[in-house]
Amino acid sequence: MSSQQHIQRHHTRRVMVGHVAVGGGAPVVVQSMTNTDTADAEGTAQQAYELWQAGSEVVRITVNSPEAAAQVGSIRKKLDAMGCNVPLVGDFHFNGHKLLAQYPDCAEALAKYRINPGNVGKGSKRDEQFAAMIEMAVKYGKPVRIGVNWGSLDQAKMARMMDENAQAAEPLSSEALMREALIQSALESAAQAEALGLPGDRIIISCKVSDVQDLITVYRELARRCDYPLHMGLTEAGMGSKGIVASTAALSVLLQEGIGDTIRISLTPEPGESRTKEVVVAQEILQTMGIRSFTPLVTACPGCGRTTSTFFQELAQKIQRYLREQMPIWRSQYPGVETMNVAVMGCVVNGPGESKLANIGISLPGTGEVPVAPVFVDGEKTVTLKGDQIAEEFQAIVEDYVRTHYAEGGVLRREQKVIPLTLA
Ligand code: SF4
Repeated sequence: MSSQQHIQRHHTRRVMVGHVAVGGGAPVVVQSMTNTDTADAEGTAQQAYELWQAGSEVVRITVNSPEAAAQVGSIRKKLDAMGCNVPLVGDFHFNGHKLLAQYPDCAEALAKYRINPGNVGKGSKRDEQFAAMIEMAVKYGKPVRIGVNWGSLDQAKMARMMDENAQAAEPLSSEALMREALIQSALESAAQAEALGLPGDRIIISCKVSDVQDLITVYRELARRCDYPLHMGLTEAGMGSKGIVASTAALSVLLQEGIGDTIRISLTPEPGESRTKEVVVAQEILQTMGIRSFTPLVTACPGCGRTTSTFFQELAQKIQRYLREQMPIWRSQYPGVETMNVAVMGCVVNGPGESKLANIGISLPGTGEVPVAPVFVDGEKTVTLKGDQIAEEFQAIVEDYVRTHYAEGGVLRREQKVIPLTLA
């Protein structure tokens, strides 16, 4: 079944983050954040490189101390030496105005500054320190993200709004007031930045919350009220399937409405789990919605009583891992390969049908079936595999298909199942 549909993108200005365009109809950008100590230049560069290899198009690093700021230039140089041109974003809280002024290498090496209006300073210092950060962005020609977060909302502003709300004829609920405070904080800070001389096409906005319905409401409202590019993500999404499901639920509703120019999935990694998981999840949200393609995907059946062994699950997992591992090389060598679809099915009930719809599909034998595995290429049955080398032989067929169908400059032979995106 073709998933051809039309998503009308919310119109936003285009902001350049290094060489990466955000907004203005550019593809929705996947970004991520390191969790290393930025003062550890080697470890941070290595993780940023891994995130980039996994497909992160922008990588954010925390810049929280003089020791961290002192290493940012070196991290940039290390990445450049590895052939990695991923733009680095500096995440600043509390002392960003000082660090940017005291470490010019850091200010220069970063492609964007993230400013949290709730954490930029208290009382009269707030405006002064916010202005100092914006002045640095103007001086170095960098864009900023005005990144408001529910957990660090400007408390003075919230208190003022609560007082006003208490006097209002029709007061807002506390939840609605909180959402309004987030939105106002972001938009007022953006207006302030423009008044200080930062061009409007150097501002990205985010208002992160940890509740799915709140996030949807806030971003719909932001899209209605401004044309700054929107950075989206659920904050503190959580660990494992909960984090993935909550992020997917929130972002897919908004993306389907054409809202969102760049996404980040804030997953808490399981102990020992790679940080790149958040990149994979962001890509899979966009790809399964048909918005962008990043990596060939494996369609696999869930298995049931007709599959008494785990062979087909292992094969599906092995092929998906193999495809993802090849992407850093294939991305440039075989353009279009990211749209390829591979089906691994557990028995003849849906196996041949699903396999025919994929670029390559294999229908493994279920319980009681003849121990053979027909392979379908572009909808035609080409070979039937049997014996204990099925996995290896199938992988060789996939490799051969990639080589012959996506060679550089070659014509993609299959229809690309990507939803066309247009501007509103
Ligand atoms: S394709 Fe076969 S093994 Fe897989 S879920 Fe369907 S009936 Fe079960």
